[in-house]
Amino acid sequence: MKKVSIVGAGFAGLTVALRLAQKGFQVDLYEKSSRVGGLLGTDRTEFGIAEKAANALIRTERAEKLFAELGVPQSLPLASSKKRFIYRHKPRTWPLTIGETLFFMVKLIPRFLINKKSLAPQDNETLDSWGRRYLGGSATEYLLGPAMQGIYGNEISGLSSKLILSPLFKEHREKYKGLLTGPGGMQDLVNHLEVRLSEMGVRIHTNSPVNIKDLQGPVVIATPANAAAALLSESQPELSKALSQIQMSSLMSVTLFFKKPQTKFKGFGCLIPRGFDLKTLGILMNSYIFQGRDKVYNETWIMGGVKESSLLDLEDTEILKLIAEERFKILGTKEGLLDYRINRWKNALPYYDLNLEKAQGEIRAFATSDKIFLHGNYLYGIGLSKILEQSDILAEEIVRLHG
Ligand SMILES: Cc1cc2nc3c(=O)[nH]c(=O)nc-3n(C[C@H](O)[C@H](O)[C@H](O)COP(=O)(O)OP(=O)(O)OC[C@H]3O[C@@H](n4cnc5c(N)ncnc54)[C@H](O)[C@@H]3O)c2cc1C
Repeated sequence: MKKVSIVGAGFAGLTVALRLAQKGFQVDLYEKSSRVGGLLGTDRTEFGIAEKAANALIRTERAEKLFAELGVPQSLPLASSKKRFIYRHKPRTWPLTIGETLFFMVKLIPRFLINKKSLAPQDNETLDSWGRRYLGGSATEYLLGPAMQGIYGNEISGLSSKLILSPLFKEHREKYKGLLTGPGGMQDLVNHLEVRLSEMGVRIHTNSPVNIKDLQGPVVIATPANAAAALLSESQPELSKALSQIQMSSLMSVTLFFKKPQTKFKGFGCLIPRGFDLKTLGILMNSYIFQGRDKVYNETWIMGGVKESSLLDLEDTEILKLIAEERFKILGTKEGLLDYRINRWKNALPYYDLNLEKAQGEIRAFATSDKIFLHGNYLYGIGLSKILEQSDILAEEIVRLHG
């Protein structure tokens, strides 16, 4: 039987393992920690669930197909989640003034209609510079900035416009319609993946850091970039060096269960632009997004990023005090707290900065082996739907070379 080894059992490792097992490979999946799922997972509390990190996938056709084939029931967002807020002295559904809106439209719309390609990002250009050029200052600060910071966990002054915007200029993009998760949260998806892999004979080795020299068959390295650099340091030093240039960014998710709901702002959540002396990157109003998974109103607050990674070193009490202060400033409320869950993710995600733009070029140039394959959120996008798409593409490639 054809063999393949996969290192790292996060979403990337689990989904590529599924596809390769379906294509007839004997798969060995090695995971350093005691559990599979990586950044995905859900804590259960007596008041409801708390996601450890990601709270949903983008609902592409591919994601729906995965849920269907694994038998995960689809949990779709509530109608109330359509409303989204951005803070500008208070949460607003549209944060620009009339003058700023007109300026933004006049700047963007003619180019968009006449020659969309002229908006394409340039090499080595930050998202902030791109935004100021094509959208104007206010739209960059109050729309683009908070939206991208909510996804990439960092200020747009450091993010690469090329890495983040280029996919929007591709002719064939996957269509999506909202978000998708399981009724018990992302843990449902992880559990179904784990069960299906076992049924298909995939050998899952937890608590198993590995030396890739000892592995059989083609090897997929589906770990974060810094771990991939360490794994390849002896066998592929140039590739390892390119990987080690990638700066990792730390994030923290704090889910808070309240005695009473706040009802003034009902929606998906609120994004927080920089410049208001607030540390929070964004707030998810979970109870207005998903149905029937909590007993009391709860929110998840996301904090951190490369400039604010020291927030992860604060004690729980200090974090709760900071959130209580910011919550009063942003939402104007002080409901009593019943329970909370804090997940500190040190060096969790690649920083999508100009350095990564350069490193990706070098990684592609050095990753030429037909035995070692790289897979992960530092190569083609941070979101789960992108990882899923790449699991399919990578499995096809391995079948072509080794099937
Ligand atoms: C707070 C937060 C919120 C997010 N929200 C969303 C969201 O709502 N939607 C979305 O699409 N995305 C979201 N993301 C991003 C998404 O969760 C990640 O990009 C994705 O889960 C990464 O999956 P992965 O498998 O590439 O990496 P990981 O989940 O990091 O998995 C890598 C695995 O490799 C293992 N490993 C590391 N080194 C070794 C080694 N030497 N040997 C063996 N195993 C090793 C690790 O233990 C881990 O299990 C969020 C991320 C964060 C931090």
